[in-house]
Amino acid sequence: MTTLGDVLAALEAAYPPATAESWDAVGLVCGDRAEPVSKVLFCVDPVESTVDEVLEVGAQLLVAHHPLMLRGVTGVPADDPKGGLVHRLIRAGVALYTAHTNADAANPGVSDALADALGLRVTGPLVPADEGADTGIGRIGELDHPEPLRDFARRVAEALPTTAWGVRAAGDPDRPVRRVAVCGGAGDSYLTAAARAGVDAYVTADLRHHPAGEHLAAGGPALVDVAHWASEWPWCGQAAHVVRTALGGTVEVLVSTRRTDPWTVGVTSRTGGSQ
Ligand SMILES: [Zn+2]
Repeated sequence: MTTLGDVLAALEAAYPPATAESWDAVGLVCGDRAEPVSKVLFCVDPVESTVDEVLEVGAQLLVAHHPLMLRGVTGVPADDPKGGLVHRLIRAGVALYTAHTNADAANPGVSDALADALGLRVTGPLVPADEGADTGIGRIGELDHPEPLRDFARRVAEALPTTAWGVRAAGDPDRPVRRVAVCGGAGDSYLTAAARAGVDAYVTADLRHHPAGEHLAAGGPALVDVAHWASEWPWCGQAAHVVRTALGGTVEVLVSTRRTDPWTVGVTSRTGGSQ
């Protein structure tokens, strides 16, 4: 019999909790390590739709990238949105486990999964953990052949799950792209690192007007901005592979099919519309 403790041991070997940032909240949110587990669902966000999904598929463990409760709470009442999710999970005998910045820092980790999805051959971290280290935040990788930014943006859109507003790129659409930096999740703070790395493009999420514009004006790499959820979704497959490799045969692994990107409508102005 495989227990929750066995599954968590496999995950923690791949994503050691001690490597999480000090402000983070990773690990077991609810669940009994002695209980049996035969099916695990992997998702980015522990929200209503993925809790619905884990109950529908009959898994005993939901592994999420984002923490349910990042800041301290004094209770989990059922009439609170997050407390309600905890109630639903515990009533159904489902555990919730989070691997967040420890999954970002791991090798392979969140950004390796993103790089793999885009067809990049990873050559090293974007921001090394220590001088000369081969781990750290983000990844730098290379395409087999250079392609114009417009084609590269299309590649990104086709490699990642569909979102309401898709993928947008900043920079000359004809600019050749071969060396690429990627950072799953919000990567604003690594714009300078991407510029220093001398890559042709930087793929990340949650980029803002002023930092993006100033970065381009200073001659930085082209930017490809994707939905935060989409940038981290490839990690679900990687984490599922970790559990399948360690416990395959006794535990079935599933990747969430629910789109938990909060943005649900994307429209573009008609030709001639205001700028
Ligand atoms: Zn994230």
